[in-house]
Amino acid sequence: MSPLWSGVIRLIASDFPVLYADSLCGESPEPFERAGIMTPYSPRDLADCPECDEPWEIEVLNIKGKDELFCVCPEHGLSPVDPLVLRRWRLHLGPILDRFVEIMGIKGTRTQIVPDMVWKLGRQGRRDFIFVKYCWEEHLKATTAELIKHPKTVLVTITPESAARLSITLPNRKFSLVETTRYDPVETLVVDLEKIEAMIGEDEKKDLKTIPRRTVRIANIERLVAELKEHYRASKDHYFAVGRLLPRPTQAELARRTGLRQNDVSRCMSDPDAKILQLLWQECENEKYVLEKLLI
Ligand SMILES: [Zn+2]
Repeated sequence: MSPLWSGVIRLIASDFPVLYADSLCGESPEPFERAGIMTPYSPRDLADCPECDEPWEIEVLNIKGKDELFCVCPEHGLSPVDPLVLRRWRLHLGPILDRFVEIMGIKGTRTQIVPDMVWKLGRQGRRDFIFVKYCWEEHLKATTAELIKHPKTVLVTITPESAARLSITLPNRKFSLVETTRYDPVETLVVDLEKIEAMIGEDEKKDLKTIPRRTVRIANIERLVAELKEHYRASKDHYFAVGRLLPRPTQAELARRTGLRQNDVSRCMSDPDAKILQLLWQECENEKYVLEKLLI
């Protein structure tokens, strides 16, 4: 995922959805501006001193007939400021949801069912979709009180953490935008429809009870393998950042991350056809495997 998109999507539900120039990570804001996702906001009126990294006031000084900006640090004196680093943008959720709904082929009018927190997005085939903006502790009560009335609806959250939090009390199928969208400078928003199908379709099939158990088991194994591969990637990054691997996730943790029941996880782990899963699980804390052997 592009660091800028990741910054935008994670910031969008915050109390102050304003993105600072240092979050651009070298990417251009232009496509986001064109899509209406980012609009220019008042620039910062403080600049960071390059010596102490503290924000100080900015002074405009005229040098050879040209106005130049300087950061005025009481300890380290004046340092020049590039006006580009002071830029900020206000982020907008509406255009992201518009595009998402369009790509998904969801029909209907977006209606707010909990003020500024939960929206009905509409219907796609036999499925209804609800978007949940916040699932932080303080909003959870109001959100779940409403969502409990819609157990069959697919929930769309911003982050996987939010989806996991809702899983504690709600049976709904769900997925997050962080896991299923990416940003493309031409197409704007790209939605991974296959991944969404994999995340919500499996539970639907279970509801129908028409497919053989074996098929469900194999799909569950694949899901756990994908989750462990994700864990290996994160663990590798962690290793390069702080010098050690992440601890092996418990089966309960894996169940939470994949949306499977803990029983199913342990059955998959002992399935004779789950050799890759068993290997990945076994070698989770083995540096040689995580860093070199498993090229995933
Ligand atoms: Zn300073």
